[in-house]
Amino acid sequence: MAKNAKPGAEAVASTSNFIRSHIDADLATSKYASRTWGGKPGPARAHAGGPPDAAKIRTRFPPEPNGYLHLGHAKSICLNFGLAQHYGGACHLRFDDTNPEKEEQEYVDSIRDAVHWLGFDWGPHGYFASDYFDFMYEAAEHLIGAGYAYVDEQSAEEMRRNRGTLTEPGRPGPWRERPAAESLARFREMRAGQHADGSMVLRAKIDIASPNINLRDPVIYRIRRATHHRTGDAWCIYPLYTYAHPIEDALERITHSICTLEFEDQRPFYDWLLGKLADGGLLARPLPQQIEFARLNLSYVVLSKRKLIQLVSEKHVDSWDDPRMPTLAGARRRGYTPEGFRRFAERIGVSKADSWIDYSVLEDCMREHLNETAERRIAVLDPLKLIIDNYPEGQQEDCFAPNHPQKPELGKRAVPLTPELWIEREDFSDNPPKGYFRLFPGNSVRLRYGYVVKCTGYDKDAQGNVAAVHCEYLPDTKSGTPGAESVKVKGNIHWLSAHAAVLAEVRLYDRLFSAAHPGAGDRDFLLDLNPDSRKTVIARVESGLREAAPGTCFQFERHGYFVADLGDFRAEAPVFNRAVTLRDSWIK
Ligand code: ATP
Ligand code: MG
Repeated sequence: MAKNAKPGAEAVASTSNFIRSHIDADLATSKYASRTWGGKPGPARAHAGGPPDAAKIRTRFPPEPNGYLHLGHAKSICLNFGLAQHYGGACHLRFDDTNPEKEEQEYVDSIRDAVHWLGFDWGPHGYFASDYFDFMYEAAEHLIGAGYAYVDEQSAEEMRRNRGTLTEPGRPGPWRERPAAESLARFREMRAGQHADGSMVLRAKIDIASPNINLRDPVIYRIRRATHHRTGDAWCIYPLYTYAHPIEDALERITHSICTLEFEDQRPFYDWLLGKLADGGLLARPLPQQIEFARLNLSYVVLSKRKLIQLVSEKHVDSWDDPRMPTLAGARRRGYTPEGFRRFAERIGVSKADSWIDYSVLEDCMREHLNETAERRIAVLDPLKLIIDNYPEGQQEDCFAPNHPQKPELGKRAVPLTPELWIEREDFSDNPPKGYFRLFPGNSVRLRYGYVVKCTGYDKDAQGNVAAVHCEYLPDTKSGTPGAESVKVKGNIHWLSAHAAVLAEVRLYDRLFSAAHPGAGDRDFLLDLNPDSRKTVIARVESGLREAAPGTCFQFERHGYFVADLGDFRAEAPVFNRAVTLRDSWIK
């Protein structure tokens, strides 16, 4: 897809992509026909339990539990779980917890919640990389014995120097040709805690002069005295991600290991490692294959975990689930929907070419889904009194508003009309510009679902601000009665009874960043924060909204889509968040 592309709705059904073509081809040749759970015994079954199943393909979503999931992860989740659903396969949720310092149970829980919320389920296939630490260790000893790995005691600085650069080949260090028995002894000492952190590492022995820097004897184990969130202090050596990940895939009998493009140069190592372990009889063939796709880049958003952590820890936002955060927890609180995300993933598709997606594409997907599903309600966000001078004092009557204009089956609800109403301040003007069709002295408008009223004047307060507007109603013009069409007016405004409406806090959220590419170049991304990303108003809303269940979305007519806040909403003090406006207000 082209840079900044904004695909139209016609792109929705484009279900085919290069990954599906790849899988179709593998299924046609029965490449993975033998890779079911009922297959050969061996480590693959011993390490990744679970019931036998006949999944045709197996994918995985492998987050590191070191932060909350963000909008980019949603793309990966929809892709991996979506493929499994489409092909009658299985998708595993695997926590890649090989980096003990930064990982926490809080993140594990939030990730599970987010995947479920998006509408996906891993069934019995929930795993942790740390479940395979024993096997990974065993595999490393095997590699040492077979001459494919060695313990290197160079300092980090020496190792960096000898590794070469993109233009210069690497040079072998002094430990590269040491006997296997010696490496094995050292490695066992490393595991037993006899050496200091950073004093030595285990490296794969591949090709120190390779043009691919990732094959220049990559480090596969390091000493790190850190307490792991699951294995505690059982280990003081930890495998590196690039070593651990292919093994996790193979043990779980993943068929298609789908990852983002920056791992493309790692694929030769992925294949080398699994090939060596299969040759040694530690893993069963056929082996999983890595397929890369372009990650999601979204304008007006940052998706780097480091930056997201900074936004929270430096309190630029309230929390991980602040509705302005590009996390899935934030999106949920904002009123974004799982269906909207799945629609988005489908619409942007997957490709091999890096591109930027405009934030409006995501908003359009949310807007479309909310338009189809959200019930309509009335809210006055900036209230101004409207007094119907010829409406009898003390009288009240019901007007009927449809809950969804395209879904008559959702019925109508009664909205009471009384002599004093609330209207939006911007629906009145004492000095109307050309083309203004709403209330101004002498002009008539329809009170939506009610009567036509004619503006007769207004009151000002001591500061000269408009304090109340006066009007007279035309009794024969009530919506739904034969006289409704007798008077034609151009303006149609929403309103609430001042007597019946209730107060609500409404949080008007906007984009967190005002620049399309926050922090572009060397700029501090925090300088691009949008100072108006949240505006809180005290609004008047229909009294029935007090009974809204937190998390329920509504369209507030003429304003946009709003959700009853999951954290702060109370019946006696309702709080609503704006998910998205009715139209894109960012189109330049
Ligand atoms: P890091 O590895 O720097 O901690 P990460 O964003 O890659 O950050 P992971 O937890 O490793 O986080 O990601 C889990 C999965 O989500 C990976 O398979 C990764 O490829 C995928 N993923 C991450 N960011 C994006 C993105 N922007 N678009 C699509 N997929 C993504
Ligand atoms: Mg990653």
